[in-house]
Amino acid sequence: MRRSQTLRGWQIACAIALMALPALAQKRPQPPKSARLYVFDCGSIKGLDPATFHFKKEELAGVDFVVTCYLVVHPKGTLMWDVGVIPDSAFKPDGAPVTERISTVTKPLLPQLAAVGYTPADISYIALSHYHSDHTANANAFAGATWLVHQPERDVMFGDKPQGIIQPAHFTALRNSKTTILKDDDYDVFGDGTVVIKYAPGHTPGHQVLYLKLRKTGPVLVAGDLYHYPEERNSDKTPTFEFNREQSLKSRAMIEDFLKKSKAQLWIEHDLATFNKLKKAPEFYE
Ligand SMILES: [Zn+2]
Repeated sequence: MRRSQTLRGWQIACAIALMALPALAQKRPQPPKSARLYVFDCGSIKGLDPATFHFKKEELAGVDFVVTCYLVVHPKGTLMWDVGVIPDSAFKPDGAPVTERISTVTKPLLPQLAAVGYTPADISYIALSHYHSDHTANANAFAGATWLVHQPERDVMFGDKPQGIIQPAHFTALRNSKTTILKDDDYDVFGDGTVVIKYAPGHTPGHQVLYLKLRKTGPVLVAGDLYHYPEERNSDKTPTFEFNREQSLKSRAMIEDFLKKSKAQLWIEHDLATFNKLKKAPEFYE
């Protein structure tokens, strides 16, 4: 009797262990055969003054911004691109939406990442299109990744008295991250031309954009804040808070030329119309 009970106990233990195995295996997804792109909802910014962008309200299809975060999963590693406007730490235990000034976030980023199988420890690289506070909120969570940044951008971020649209507390941990300083030419993150960071300065001193060559979707350019509104594309209007307007116009011309040659889709990160059309995580582009 006792022996069969012991045996039964052992069998149950084995069964539980076997059941747990697939769950463990699922926890960290297998690297895909080709690059994937996940799009996360990182909030919205409302009540902006179009005059800040040299527009009248009626000249824009919409004034409000969406805030978007992205995860690239490549066979050789992962890249987080832009990490939100309000950090996950601002959420209360009830998980209710958080509003800070004109920004609101309804979903924290890390649970969205976990829902597709990744934790910050799984992230190989972090890159920010630029240092403005609506792109950096959760940067500290990814300080264990290798940071891909241009020197003039890093210099502003860790300067003596950072000024403007910047929230240094949100990225202090990047100071000691393993860091790769990018040069002015394209940076091929995984070495096969499918995930490339392009230098497009002007909005900030080291502003950059992300070019992806996806097997099924085709080429995509995630444009950071090269533009905020599609209406900027056919004008020479730049925001009032541009670091260097002439440089921005040069970067825009270079990227427009690249879009023609590469036939890449342009994704303006803050554009609600673009965002509404996109597949959101857990769906992905490949
Ligand atoms: Zn922005």
